[in-house]
Amino acid sequence: MERLWDYSEIKKIMSESGFTFSKALGQNFLVNPSVCPKMAQMCGADGNTGVIEVGPGIGVLTNELCKVAKKVVAIELDERLPKILGKTLADHQNVEIISGDVMKIDLHRLIEEKFPGMEVVVCANLPYYITSPVIMKLLEEKLPIKALTVMVQKEAADRLCAQMGSRECGAVTAAVRYYSEPRLLFKVSAGSFMPAPKVDSAVIRMDVDSKPKLSVNDEKLFFKIVRGAFSQRRKTVLNSLSSALSADKSALKKAFEIAQVSPTLRPEAMTLEEFARVSNAVGEAK
Ligand code: SAM
Repeated sequence: MERLWDYSEIKKIMSESGFTFSKALGQNFLVNPSVCPKMAQMCGADGNTGVIEVGPGIGVLTNELCKVAKKVVAIELDERLPKILGKTLADHQNVEIISGDVMKIDLHRLIEEKFPGMEVVVCANLPYYITSPVIMKLLEEKLPIKALTVMVQKEAADRLCAQMGSRECGAVTAAVRYYSEPRLLFKVSAGSFMPAPKVDSAVIRMDVDSKPKLSVNDEKLFFKIVRGAFSQRRKTVLNSLSSALSADKSALKKAFEIAQVSPTLRPEAMTLEEFARVSNAVGEAK
């Protein structure tokens, strides 16, 4: 079905099915006709690609993804929606709706079963209440995906795409840059959604690195150190880490020396490589 972005079309679907928006599930549906075709064109999907969509809603983005991709698998938590999607996506044979919570689904298995021999990308207008957890799950699980193209709140987009060393960067920035190359594609005004949220949004794309770009001996420790360092941004990394790791300051100082990183830096002044060297030195000192 076309015109799923049309206000009156959405109202019609809602009154026929008795559907009402759930705030708790982050349901802000797109009502701007240009956004979904643009996302579908820019997400890296083509006739040989499989797409995973998180939260299809009534299918406005799904409809566009079906036109460009070989196959689309859309995961939707709201049990009222698959029935509606059965009607709105009836024109497409290359789509499958999976009922469930993206945070609980085994995505390695899903990719193996649903997309054999295909390149896979993710494209989604994410529910805002779980933006970061979803992105981190998709990256940390090291899924065989080429890119993630997601709509998030503008402020989150700035953090996710920030450069290390900038004022906006945080632990999530470091994690995203550890796994991928993020970039902002375009901004989307709050008025492009129904109901309209309070803030603007943006579409970002993260191209997933096929090989790790850093030499990190212990990833768990690396992320513990990144999170620990950013947990108290105003403190020096030495002070933040000694409390986050419950570690002796002089032993930590020695690790910084071996890593050739100044212990008096603030976390936002550190590069990813420096975090990697510190975490390797701390790991070796253990
Ligand atoms: N794709 C539609 C659009 O662009 O208009 C809807 C996007 S809306 C921002 C987010 C969608 O994610 C909703 O359909 C919501 O029900 C669904 N959702 C929320 N939490 C989810 C979860 N944990 N797993 C899967 N889908 C979820």
